[in-house]
Amino acid sequence: MAMNVQPVATLDNEINEIRMATAAIINEQILPHEAALWGVRTSGSSDKDAIAEAKERREGVQAAVKRANLWAPHLPKEFGGMGLGFMQHAYMNEVLSYSPGAASLFGVVAPNSGNQKILVKYGSPEQQEKWLAPLIEGTMQSGFSMTEPDNAGSDPRSIKTAAVLDGDEWVINGHKWFTSNGHAADFYIVMCKTSEADENGESNTRMTQIIVPKDTPGVKVVRGVPVWGKASSHCEIIYENVRVPKENQLGRTGSGHQAAQDRLGAGRVYHCMNSIGSMWRAFDLMVGRLQTREVHGGEKLADKQFMQGFVADSYIDIQSARLMTIHCAEKMETGADPRTDISAIKVYVPAAYHRVVDRAIQVFGAAGVSGDLPLAGMYEGARTLRIADGPDEVHKILIAKLVMRRYETADSWDFGN
Ligand SMILES: Cc1cc2nc3c(=O)[nH]c(=O)nc-3n(C[C@H](O)[C@H](O)[C@H](O)COP(=O)(O)OP(=O)(O)OC[C@H]3O[C@@H](n4cnc5c(N)ncnc54)[C@H](O)[C@@H]3O)c2cc1C
Repeated sequence: MAMNVQPVATLDNEINEIRMATAAIINEQILPHEAALWGVRTSGSSDKDAIAEAKERREGVQAAVKRANLWAPHLPKEFGGMGLGFMQHAYMNEVLSYSPGAASLFGVVAPNSGNQKILVKYGSPEQQEKWLAPLIEGTMQSGFSMTEPDNAGSDPRSIKTAAVLDGDEWVINGHKWFTSNGHAADFYIVMCKTSEADENGESNTRMTQIIVPKDTPGVKVVRGVPVWGKASSHCEIIYENVRVPKENQLGRTGSGHQAAQDRLGAGRVYHCMNSIGSMWRAFDLMVGRLQTREVHGGEKLADKQFMQGFVADSYIDIQSARLMTIHCAEKMETGADPRTDISAIKVYVPAAYHRVVDRAIQVFGAAGVSGDLPLAGMYEGARTLRIADGPDEVHKILIAKLVMRRYETADSWDFGN
């Protein structure tokens, strides 16, 4: 089933054109060939011809994306991207996420894309030439190394990995894990503690992000941590007396926490729009199945009230998740304080995504958990999202804190704004 994307009356022409052009590539060049584009990966096949053919196919789609000027929506034009505004990017994401993996064919591959944005904002011209340019060209890979096995990742200020200046070098010692893309990466952006909290307990300015090439002595990639029972490239890494030049630090000393916030803030809106694109696909698959599958008594699944309930509940989940996310994005765009809304969508959208995919899997029966459909992968992704980028509970605490503070200092909450 093709994704049904029509112009939205309230959006400007440019956004509508981007959405329509993205949907055309998704519908014509990706959806009909999903198995051929990625099947060899999911089947674990080592057939060299099939692997080469799939790679060639992916490169063909990437060339079409570039011809359509849809390459790298997250990057400014001067770095080879589309130079999109925030809302344009958000609205494009829900379309390109309809097919899992399609983002990579549009030049968006985590964690490289997040690292690219950090290097655009915080990198010096020399760092941009040395690390960003090859990352954009695809001749280098990267990882973002913040979370640690022995400290709560939900509070990044708790990290213990320390960098100490010795002459004109940083000396880094620490233990990280879940550094995604860790095996393939040529360099890591490592979050390090570079000073102690000051006497007022201020700890947001004591961290610095430092570029560490993987082949630096003392960098030990211990393993890819298995995720959902499968081998993964989310790596455990030990940094032992790792020495890198001082000029490898990103931005000024102490700006690491702010850089991490920059990465996550707008990123959460983009991730939610991605989840909405995936929910949209799961919904289409589910309804398609309901209309064709015959069950006991020769009736279609669509005729069963249990199943009709799934349709209604999923419709409500998708619409509410989408409108909440767009409301949050609009608030950010107008410069209003979006923190409560960012946390609200970070909790609500992955949970809605989880429910929608769960129902779709139930409708498909065994096929739902098979590798023949994208649903099983979506299910794992939705569950994981409730932990990554700040677990649910931490965001709920923040929502409550911000709301209470408003009631203490002003009248009450204005839900109209
Ligand atoms: C697939 C995947 C990929 C990832 N990729 C990366 C990556 O590339 N780079 C990177 O650095 N990290 C990465 N992470 C790590 C991720 O960012 C962390 O898992 C996340 O920040 C949570 O940290 P934690 O796992 O240490 O959980 P903890 O901080 O130990 O929290 C565990 C649980 O405790 C509860 N909790 C925590 N704090 C509170 C509180 N204040 N009040 C009440 N309850 C609380 C919550 O239920 C939470 O889920 C990845 C994780 C996954 C699963």
